[in-house]
Amino acid sequence: MPLHRLNPAPTIRTMPLAATLTNVFSLAALFALAIAPAGAQGVSESGKAGVAETVKVHGMRLVGDETRTRFVIDLDSPPDHGILRLTDPYRLVIDLPRATFTNPAAQSDGRGLVADYRFGLIAAEKARIVLDLTGPVEIAKTFLLPAAGEQPARLVFDFVSTSAASFATAAAADNTRAKAAVTGSAPKGDRLRGGGPGGRPVVVIDPGHGGIDSGAAGAQGVLEKAVTLEFARELAARLLTGGRVDPVLTRNGDRFLSLRQRIAIARENRAALFISVHADTVPEDYVRGATVYTLSEKASDSLSAALAARENRSDILAGLAIDDQPDEVADILFDLARRESRNLSLRFAKGLVKDMSAAVKLNNSPWRKAAFQVLKAPDIPSVLLELGFLSNPYDEQLLRSSVWRKRSAEAVARAIELFVGDAAPVGAKNDL
Ligand SMILES: [Zn+2]
Repeated sequence: MPLHRLNPAPTIRTMPLAATLTNVFSLAALFALAIAPAGAQGVSESGKAGVAETVKVHGMRLVGDETRTRFVIDLDSPPDHGILRLTDPYRLVIDLPRATFTNPAAQSDGRGLVADYRFGLIAAEKARIVLDLTGPVEIAKTFLLPAAGEQPARLVFDFVSTSAASFATAAAADNTRAKAAVTGSAPKGDRLRGGGPGGRPVVVIDPGHGGIDSGAAGAQGVLEKAVTLEFARELAARLLTGGRVDPVLTRNGDRFLSLRQRIAIARENRAALFISVHADTVPEDYVRGATVYTLSEKASDSLSAALAARENRSDILAGLAIDDQPDEVADILFDLARRESRNLSLRFAKGLVKDMSAAVKLNNSPWRKAAFQVLKAPDIPSVLLELGFLSNPYDEQLLRSSVWRKRSAEAVARAIELFVGDAAPVGAKNDL
């Protein structure tokens, strides 16, 4: 899977609008390429085949100062590792292709040339450590100390300051190696029941965050990535019981997916509807209640704008390159499809707010708009559902409650079934 965009953006900006209709199929293929998953495999520096045992990471620490900063990783055996430098902002990514963490904490404070770092799984047994740098650095030294007696094996990196230009050169070389190592295919999502052509409409449920990206954390330590997954599973189970739609989860475990991969799963499954589930925090801790978001470049209020901006940083936190090309592609190519799916998104959002209002506590302004990246599939009606806000103590308590979860999943399922029933072609209605 490509870490960066591998294909230069198709230069379709100059294409006359009339051509977009006749070429919609080939353009759709181009678009599919453009949103191909930005996977997260690093590049093995040692070039060894992936036959090594899974290594366990026991701990990590920073020592030194701004002149020279040392990063030490304690492991149970010597790892096969990959390095990627990313600019804007300056980051250094260390990939351990077959590794797990024995310590579940996922973040730590910085020191010297490292502002902070985080780590976690980005796929099954594929671990990533992302160091946020205070500026461009050079890796002055890398070495491995084998385990000796009680002492674990250690992978050590020494960083010193360097110029922006030489960091950029090294980052470009990393990128070239990443291209050469590309493998894998688009994620399919976790289908809970086979649908296929002529089957029930597919609804893709997207539990926000996962793996290295924990999302928000409540005061009681509740993690957004866990809340969203529990809710998504409850909702999928309820939809299966209803038998009117085929639910597909973008993830059915604690793993990282890029925002683009989430959209790709919805498109791969030809989803009739895409729902991204979140439970974020906002600085205003009095803000609470379920909120339904639809896509708009112009946010309905400053709170929503800030929320979307932070949410859109998910990929950066996980150590992916910044890439905003799909927006440009979508703007030109899919104007018509976009208008149609926007209308359907609005219709669903309205129904969802109505059905949820009878069942659970809603936000004072329960339908808002903002530029969430994950809502940008031009051809699929998409909404983002904030179940509540982990920054609010009442909401955090509710989000942990199985009674609340059941009740809200029921309300969301009803809104989905109503929407899909209305949106389905007349002939298909009889099959529902
Ligand atoms: Zn979130």
